[in-house]
Amino acid sequence: METYDALLASITPVSGETRTIFDPATGQPVGEAPVHTVQDLEAAIAAAAAAQPAWAALGHDARSAALLKAADAVERSAEELARLLSREQGKPLNGPNARFEVGACAAWLRVAAGTPLDPETVVDDGETRAELHYRPIGVVGAIGPWNWPMMITVWQLAPALRMGNAVVIKPSEYTPLSVLALVEVLNQELPEGLLTAVSGGRDVGEALAGHPAIGKIMFTGSTATGKAIIKSSADTVKRLTLELGGNDAGIVLPDADPKAIAEGLFWGAFINTGQTCAALKRLYVHDAIYDAVCEELATVGRAMPMGNGLDEANVLGPLQNRQQFDIVARLVEAARDSGARILLGGNPEADQPGNFYPTTLVADIANSNPLVAEEQFGPALPIIRYGTVDEAVAMANAVDVGLGASVWSSDPAEARKVAARLEAGTVWINKHGAVDPRIPFGGAKQSGYGLEFGVEGLKALGVPQVING
Ligand code: NAD
Repeated sequence: METYDALLASITPVSGETRTIFDPATGQPVGEAPVHTVQDLEAAIAAAAAAQPAWAALGHDARSAALLKAADAVERSAEELARLLSREQGKPLNGPNARFEVGACAAWLRVAAGTPLDPETVVDDGETRAELHYRPIGVVGAIGPWNWPMMITVWQLAPALRMGNAVVIKPSEYTPLSVLALVEVLNQELPEGLLTAVSGGRDVGEALAGHPAIGKIMFTGSTATGKAIIKSSADTVKRLTLELGGNDAGIVLPDADPKAIAEGLFWGAFINTGQTCAALKRLYVHDAIYDAVCEELATVGRAMPMGNGLDEANVLGPLQNRQQFDIVARLVEAARDSGARILLGGNPEADQPGNFYPTTLVADIANSNPLVAEEQFGPALPIIRYGTVDEAVAMANAVDVGLGASVWSSDPAEARKVAARLEAGTVWINKHGAVDPRIPFGGAKQSGYGLEFGVEGLKALGVPQVING
């Protein structure tokens, strides 16, 4: 799209019911989103089912070529997409935020297009020959959250399309414009009907998860909704990839250099103003360097500007919605009431038009405190003191979710030993939350099941078929 206004106009409905979407930084309207219904969902699924066989018949090379063109289209409209994302989601243009997210969309499309997936010969011993192939599933449903709406949608649709499926997307009701605009741009390069976003509410999500014509649901969102989707998909035995909530722990070993790790710790926790599934949400620091780590983190935190996303200086933004703001405010107040020490932040401005919650660090907090035990999903990091590594590992593992975790140390070999003891889908060393389209990503425990990215991510969007003989 040549301009921001043209992009917005391309997704503004000319008829039907609409809903105004407001900028979380200013409270001003961003645009009008269609309120799609279950009937609209039926039409999208029918179009997808009609478009899918010809797409599947193209084969991997032609589908990959189309995905590469779709990545080019995203890059052509990158600045307009980033602007819309910033206004609707709140995240700043700069820092690891809106421009970064749009860049990731193109990167994930390119890797999904370029990852080889050849049939595997499992046995070939002269008597038996067996090969493992992956056939398209058919029509895939993609249901997504509001924190990284464009990037997560691409995580779901890119491998699905590459594997020969059609896709129907149900974006979060908080951030429909970002996803509708992204789909509009991708559709410049894709056959009609193959990819549709249906921007309805929870009823549309439920109908998608239970629909007999949908072969698989890719879901990213809360653990509670993930459980509801498991139930509504049971009658049709749908395949599921579930990327659910997390409460990631980071463990700082006593030999770490507080100054050297402070910025990495900060962005591990505060990326997207803390609204990230695999952000560092509980920080365990050894007693010997506890005060030094707290001090260095506070120094970094004080220097990071928060404000309106369209202001080029800012790297932190508002919370996307009031509900999330209230959760963060409640958890920080509970921590304060328990006697924990607020090192930084903790006092949001009253009566502001936006949802700004200041960068907050909470020290000397008990492991049982709700700010530690619950997923805060915002800019408030609890820092817990520990005495022995065994104690830190036990506290890190004592939750029922396990998306990511991290270990921070000057000795990577020692850090890897601790990493192996953590119950999480990914454990990073001296970084946190760094996802990569070539490296599989998925959760342990109630953070979900199934892998995204890499060749494992492609396989998850196909039906395995053995040809024996
Ligand atoms: P959410 O579960 O409230 O909503 C996600 C989506 O599900 C929305 O589109 C919503 O409309 C839809 N939905 C709601 N009820 C439904 C139902 N019964 N059936 C079908 N669809 C339904 O999640 P959210 O608040 O948008 O996102 C925040 C959560 O997502 C956090 O817990 C975060 O950790 C998690 N998350 C996880 C990952 C990951 O990769 N694991 C990534 C991002 C976010």
